[in-house]
Amino acid sequence: MVDSDNNFEKARWQELADRLGDGDSDRPLELSRERKRELIRESTQRVLDHLEQLPEEPVVKLNGAREHAETLREPLPEGPTPFGELLTTLFEDAIAHSAANPHPKFMAYVPGGGLYHAAVADFIANATNRYVGTWFEAPALVAIESTVIRWFCEIMGYPEDSFGLLTSGGSMANLIATITARQERLGDDFLDGIVYTSDQSHHSVTKAATLAGFREENVRSVPTDDRYRIDVDALAAQVRSDREAGAEPFLVVGTAGSTNTGAVDDLDALADYCARADLWLHADAAYGGFFALTETGRERLSGLDRCDSITIDPHKGLFLPYGTGALLVRDGTALARTHATSADYLPDWEPTSGTVDFSRLGPEQSRDFRGLRVWLPLKMHGVDAFRETLAEKLSLAESAAKYLRDLDDVTLVDEPQLSTVAFRVEPPGVDDAALDDLNRTVLETVNARQRVHLSGTILDGVFALRICILGFRTHREHVAECLAEIERAVSDVSA
Ligand SMILES: *Cc1c(COP(=O)(O)O)cnc(C)c1O
Repeated sequence: MVDSDNNFEKARWQELADRLGDGDSDRPLELSRERKRELIRESTQRVLDHLEQLPEEPVVKLNGAREHAETLREPLPEGPTPFGELLTTLFEDAIAHSAANPHPKFMAYVPGGGLYHAAVADFIANATNRYVGTWFEAPALVAIESTVIRWFCEIMGYPEDSFGLLTSGGSMANLIATITARQERLGDDFLDGIVYTSDQSHHSVTKAATLAGFREENVRSVPTDDRYRIDVDALAAQVRSDREAGAEPFLVVGTAGSTNTGAVDDLDALADYCARADLWLHADAAYGGFFALTETGRERLSGLDRCDSITIDPHKGLFLPYGTGALLVRDGTALARTHATSADYLPDWEPTSGTVDFSRLGPEQSRDFRGLRVWLPLKMHGVDAFRETLAEKLSLAESAAKYLRDLDDVTLVDEPQLSTVAFRVEPPGVDDAALDDLNRTVLETVNARQRVHLSGTILDGVFALRICILGFRTHREHVAECLAEIERAVSDVSA
């Protein structure tokens, strides 16, 4: 019975299909099963070769990169190019001529990781391409991402009713935090609002404030103490004088792991002060936050759980590929209040329904399934693997600092508070102006040899070098090589 019904239906569909025009399409974008398998097989081969060679490659190979970049400019292609040829272009021209942030000896800026498992998760997420912006379309997948957010809240010591959102990075998280604080504290009439941060904060904090609608002069840069932590008394004095002048202080952005030295503001003191002064406290823990998994990190980050919101960057502290940041908010309902919208073509949604529509917690409607690339590696290993890897980085930074402190002509700018070591080369009898040049020369000398890659910064008006240890592939043999390279360059310039 059923079969003949089906046959009747099929015949009917075929008849209808025959009447529809399709522009004589050969359906060129539909790949066969075998072709799909081949694409992955060929890509995997290249990726594995690349990853295996990576530790032996120069860390930053930008010689000729400009010329290679020029060769990639071309008009819109009309016809096909063989896949293997494209892979060759990618791996031999493009990827080869770039800074290798995931290299074990890349210790400049804040290094990137790129766990392989996360790439596999992205493959699955993109190949199945489910929509995770709203709960009702994929409840279980949204539950996976919500669970990831809950794990993050737990790591930071946040209460049950906290919540958050995966973003593309720390800058987006800082922006969403600023807008949420603005909406919660000032409402629609916010132009007199003032944002406070320190002279060591990341530039994305000011960018977030201006994008959130504030004039740049409404962002106060508060001085820091001798360990580059915000001076809470200076902050209080500034807030008082702004209030007297009729402005509306509403947001303090503390830094939990500065880019320059890894400095962590005294978050407990900030939380005490912000509670008294009735200010929203946001912690920019993009670099430092995941150190909360370790015992040392938890001590250094004490007070993080008392902040109203926290930026963390899984693409830094959890070694995930770029494109993975997060914002956590202590009062989990604040994001929904700030971003709530509705549309006739979307189903109704109540923040109290026990479900989550990520599209109503932030600016993005459609987005990639970021949750999977966090969930898969965490589930595959358990959190201890991450805890151990982060503890290794803290310990390596300690050891590197100890070694540099004992080197002739080298001065530590500060003891490492996390996994960053800032230092300066200061041979006796060289005047201040010449010292800056000398330090720049050391950096250039180290980087020119392409065995390790470091970066510099300006601290208290002078140029300093820094080592940032955060790659999951970076172990003691790599730090040892880095220290040897520094020692060699120092003796070169001091000679
Ligand atoms: C990296 C970083 C940011 C910016 O995050 P992105 O992910 O690069 O957008 C902000 N603040 C701090 C402290 C950072 O280390």
